[in-house]
Amino acid sequence: MSQRGSGLKEDPGRLAPGPALAGALLLATILCGGMVNQAQAQRLVPVADGVYVFPGNVNSGVVVTGRGVVVIDTQISPPLARRLLAEIRRVSDHPIAYVINTHYHGDHTYGNVVFAREAPIIAHERTPGLMRSREHRMKDFYESRGFPVRSSPVVLPTLTFSDRLTLALDDEVIELRHLGKTETDDAIVVHLPRKGVLFGGDTVRGRDFPMLGMPNMAEGLTMEGEWVRVLEEIERLRPPVVVPGHGPILRDLRVIARQRALMQDLIAAMRPFLASGTPLAEIKRQLRLPQYADLPQSWGSLEFAIERLYHNETGWLAPSVSRLPRASAEQVAAARSGGSPEALLAEARRALQQGQVPLALGLADAAIMCAPGRGGLYAAKADLLWDAAWRVFGRFDRGDYVVAARRAIEEALQREPGEPLARLHRGLDLLATIPFTGQSPDEGMAEIRASLAGLPQAAHAKAYYGLGLGHRAKGELQQAREAFERALGLEPGLTPAREALAGLQGR
Ligand SMILES: [Zn+2]
Repeated sequence: MSQRGSGLKEDPGRLAPGPALAGALLLATILCGGMVNQAQAQRLVPVADGVYVFPGNVNSGVVVTGRGVVVIDTQISPPLARRLLAEIRRVSDHPIAYVINTHYHGDHTYGNVVFAREAPIIAHERTPGLMRSREHRMKDFYESRGFPVRSSPVVLPTLTFSDRLTLALDDEVIELRHLGKTETDDAIVVHLPRKGVLFGGDTVRGRDFPMLGMPNMAEGLTMEGEWVRVLEEIERLRPPVVVPGHGPILRDLRVIARQRALMQDLIAAMRPFLASGTPLAEIKRQLRLPQYADLPQSWGSLEFAIERLYHNETGWLAPSVSRLPRASAEQVAAARSGGSPEALLAEARRALQQGQVPLALGLADAAIMCAPGRGGLYAAKADLLWDAAWRVFGRFDRGDYVVAARRAIEEALQREPGEPLARLHRGLDLLATIPFTGQSPDEGMAEIRASLAGLPQAAHAKAYYGLGLGHRAKGELQQAREAFERALGLEPGLTPAREALAGLQGR
């Protein structure tokens, strides 16, 4: 290995015995819907000679050289890291020469433990400190967003650099560069100039509304726009292939240019509000970027982006991690007409259909208060939360609903152990976390099958949707398709089934 620019530093404390950190399941317990990364989809995708992408909620990179394999980002949990390693072994029996972390976030580093035995882990010099000091806050955030927390030691990088590091492995040249602060202060890109491939980490986003920084961290896009300059630098490198940390592989630099323009437009739109001291809530009401309305707000959203800039400019922090909306007691009291739990639940359903999510949840709680011993009422609340979650922009926000639903399912099953609707939702929850845990779908599918006979008709569509997720995870794509179609036949408006079916097209 040769290096230039800044010095390599060896960190002897490689295996930091961090408290059990969690499966980083950041992204999606919730979403299952349009995800592409079920087990059978996680095969290495070649993007250039000897260069592969392991696609998932997080994209890992694999570079096979004559002097060993280089791995870029280690996935979000040890089971997924082991799957990545097994995939590498299908294309090469060379030893792992180096592992690279593009930044400190757990969704890119929680698999380090699997690779630490194999090779040194390289990252920016800020990365080990950020991994250590932010471990608990990250864990809190993941947990608050419904990501199952499992014990996984935090394994720190062992080799760090400041600006630039060049790995020369036989005739392969791998350039690691810290071009500036972007989503995180330690972000690096990995450039293979001879192969025309750049791994952008989370500095580069796919084709949806960009996530401009973790909502509960002091990082990400600032009014100074350093991130904008980094994207310009990447565009100047003109890589034919850019692999973002999440989302589809990019072969068109205009996607990055548009992301940069969005940041510039957002900064420009924020400026007058900040100058006039406009309150955050008012900015969120007024600031619109209609020219980007076509970008799906799945991980990132305009609301998060505004909060991000507001935070970095004023030091404001969201007072509560949860975004579950709440109606006031007065609003609930005013809306309820009858006294029976069934009447309240029916009103809750109506409120939800009219888009009044806070009121719907308040009415469900009122129903539970009428008869707190009945497990079925908690199950009905979980069902309502699940439906409400799909009306929410942004998968981060959806996590709040997942956490609340999980609690309601537990309460339901404590009171009525076999309650069908609660079992259905337990099964859906198990299936939704597979992309992160790497677990088998069998338990979730068994829960759903066991629930079917006792389910109200209105919940059957969700059951078939859940079974479709299970089949998809097993690689049984035809059965998955049939299950999603059956779900849509019962309930044409079932968003997750529609997204899942669309995701299967062309597979
Ligand atoms: Zn990420």
